[in-house]
Amino acid sequence: MIVGERKPFDEITGMLNGYKKVLILGCGTCVSVCMAGGAKEVAVLASQLRMDSGIQEKGVEIGEETIQRQCDREYIEPIVEMAKTYDVVLSMACGAGVQLLSDMLVPTPVLPALNTSFIGICEEEGVWAERCRGCGDCMLGITGGICPVARCAKTLFNGPCGGSVNGICEVSKDTPCAWQLVYDRLKALGKLESLEEIQPIRDWGPSSSGIPRGVYREDMAGVAVESEGSSK
Ligand code: SF4
Ligand code: SF4
Repeated sequence: MIVGERKPFDEITGMLNGYKKVLILGCGTCVSVCMAGGAKEVAVLASQLRMDSGIQEKGVEIGEETIQRQCDREYIEPIVEMAKTYDVVLSMACGAGVQLLSDMLVPTPVLPALNTSFIGICEEEGVWAERCRGCGDCMLGITGGICPVARCAKTLFNGPCGGSVNGICEVSKDTPCAWQLVYDRLKALGKLESLEEIQPIRDWGPSSSGIPRGVYREDMAGVAVESEGSSK
């Protein structure tokens, strides 16, 4: 899932300065699961903003709504007209959700209430960890399901740097060495011979370091065109 964290309250109130009618819009998918931007978090932020408005005599009206996904047009469409009755929308989605919402609500401004952090997992209650950087050329099949892009501080592809001590990364004493994890996993899988295969120099072309990426599925695009045609 995409993991995010709510921005500091002062930053949020600073962004909202001058707006009199504010809609807080939550997202019911990733950010709900990581407890940053779902219906509960919308309710908490709305209460805080109402209190702030009362104490500071700002006279701000706060609305609350949560939709299933803010990164999907079909879930936004039903609330477009309602959202446009507000001066501003404070989105509690990830950056993708904020941007699609922003596109669809012009001229109503959309502001981010979260900082989008990473693609990750919940390790235990209250603890989330990065697991993938969307590099566009997944190598988990070679590394036993441990990602050296997201989990090795130096993004090494051919074994450890030599700095790990007792399985801990030399960059952070709280972080296991990704390559120790890879070794342990491959050993458990009976596939240690994978480590003898030298990985070639990486082509970072499909990664996020260039132009914005897209995925074009010819098979699905064809279906969409066909169904559009058949409905006419
Ligand atoms: S190798 Fe790339 S796609 Fe696969 S988990 Fe790591 S960052 Fe994500
Ligand atoms: S100690 Fe391990 S995880 Fe840390 S940078 Fe070196 S190889 Fe990567």
